[in-house]
Amino acid sequence: MSHYITENCIGTKDTGCVDVCPVDCIHPRPDDPRFESEEMLYIDKDNCIDCGLCVDECPVHAIFREEDIPAGQEKYIQLNDAYFAPPREAD
Ligand code: SF4
Ligand code: SF4
Repeated sequence: MSHYITENCIGTKDTGCVDVCPVDCIHPRPDDPRFESEEMLYIDKDNCIDCGLCVDECPVHAIFREEDIPAGQEKYIQLNDAYFAPPREAD
């Protein structure tokens, strides 16, 4: 299980969640070159410990436990996971 960031982050992306995450699994961080080009942030499910600290920090209620993701926003699970997926090998 993991927490996931959903659509409300788009247009806000204030990075408040990044600062409270004890395992640094929310990316890209503001000092990452990819920060400017990404419209939202993502949670690395392989490192998230489900502590929930980021949830209260988010001003737009964008972060949910996987099982609580609002209907219609399920695609954000894939979008979060895709950010951390290794690049595909060229055929
Ligand atoms: S639930 Fe905890 S570990 Fe997971 S992203 Fe949020 S702050 Fe980080
Ligand atoms: S606190 Fe919420 S809006 Fe801000 S970057 Fe994190 S998920 Fe996005």
